[in-house]
Amino acid sequence: MSVFYKPYMIKYNLVVMFFTVMLVCFMATAADTKNLLFEKQKKTIVLDPGHGGYDKGAQGPDGTFEKNVTLNLARMIAKELANNYRVVLTRTDDYWLDIPARTASANHVGADLFISIHTGGSFLHQASGITLYYFKEFAGPTMTPDAYPSQPFKSINNQVPWPNIHNRHQKSSKVLAQLMLNRINEQRIFTKSDIQDAQFMILEGADMPAVCLEIGYITNPAEEKSLSDIIVLSNIAKGIRNGIDDFFEKDR
Ligand SMILES: [Zn+2]
Repeated sequence: MSVFYKPYMIKYNLVVMFFTVMLVCFMATAADTKNLLFEKQKKTIVLDPGHGGYDKGAQGPDGTFEKNVTLNLARMIAKELANNYRVVLTRTDDYWLDIPARTASANHVGADLFISIHTGGSFLHQASGITLYYFKEFAGPTMTPDAYPSQPFKSINNQVPWPNIHNRHQKSSKVLAQLMLNRINEQRIFTKSDIQDAQFMILEGADMPAVCLEIGYITNPAEEKSLSDIIVLSNIAKGIRNGIDDFFEKDR
């Protein structure tokens, strides 16, 4: 022991040390609680990469499959959202899921948003642009399978979507579509963009605001090239994340 240390000084140092440790512990616990609360309050976003497995979706003139573009984009959006949201993908690899299973998984996890991802496909190679769809029930007959962006309308195991469940989210779905489109347009990727209502089965059973994206036409040679470009996809993903952020800001 140093000759300069007096017993009362040791006592004093011990007391200071004790309170410092207590303070650090308290701060750590408070931070943990705050983190835990933040985790609990995180909104859940379900991303649905269209098609998969035997269902390749639309195909580009260079041989790009829609099912791969949708999965790549979903992964990028998930990465963009990961810090502030809980993100669930309906499919995480190249396999097929029927439409009710996709919507049901969003309902099952109590998602705050459901976003189904597709590309456009047309026998007209000049068809181009991005369209965001929100659900709107029509008075007329149910939409024909041909009008749905994916083909497998019939392979649904006889499941019937919960009728009218999505109606109460129709207005907020339209708002979400508009906010996302504004932010995607900031990226200046597509020359044509639009929002449309549609009676899509993929949206009909969703018990939360939901949007179906058709991110460009894979059958258009220039857009096929864009949709195969990681930088373009990443910019689309950023636009979608900003639109989602805007939606929840508005919601508060
Ligand atoms: Zn599709």
